[in-house]
Amino acid sequence: MSHTQLAQFQQLLIDCAACAANPAQRAQAEVLYRKLLDFDPKVQELFCFQMERELLDAKRAFIELNNRLVRAEFSQRKPRTVLLLLPFCIQTTSCPRRIVWKIENCRQCGACSVGELLRAANEKHVPVRVSVRGRFAPMFIKELKPEITVAVACEDELFSGMLRASKFRCFGIGNIRPEGYCINTSVDVDAVREALDYFVQEELTAEDAE
Ligand code: SF4
Repeated sequence: MSHTQLAQFQQLLIDCAACAANPAQRAQAEVLYRKLLDFDPKVQELFCFQMERELLDAKRAFIELNNRLVRAEFSQRKPRTVLLLLPFCIQTTSCPRRIVWKIENCRQCGACSVGELLRAANEKHVPVRVSVRGRFAPMFIKELKPEITVAVACEDELFSGMLRASKFRCFGIGNIRPEGYCINTSVDVDAVREALDYFVQEELTAEDAE
């Protein structure tokens, strides 16, 4: 792997974001988006490692483009299985409940977004998992084989997750970070509800979701 490849990847991302912002260049943005997904995984990994907290606007544009494409893909047919993936930092640090391995331990007290998100997912019979810095995400995807994952995380995690799991569909919702990264984060719960409403078919039963 060379610095040239890394620079190429970075330029692709910048170009992709610029094209995505211009309605007349949407087709070109999609071409660049696919090139980014198909890039050498070692370069992708190194880029995500070296460029953490960098190029956030470009990553945000990539995520928005990805979301638009995923929405379009499921405009006629709803995915059979959906997973809601949350970052561990969305749980308030003052909570004594251990939710990373068992989200049901949340007693939905309202002190952080987890309770409301769990309620929204339960209403749709959508399983919820909590990931620690993206580490468990591949394991959950392998375990549950969701046709689509609605993922909440920072732009860095969403971008790297979309690259790593490019064979799987992911709809990304950026988190809110009033205290900075990785601590007491939040999310627009209405945006998550809207995504679940969009992707979950009405007749999905609890049995289908398991
Ligand atoms: S809603 Fe309450 S119980 Fe659930 S994770 Fe947040 S603080 Fe803990």
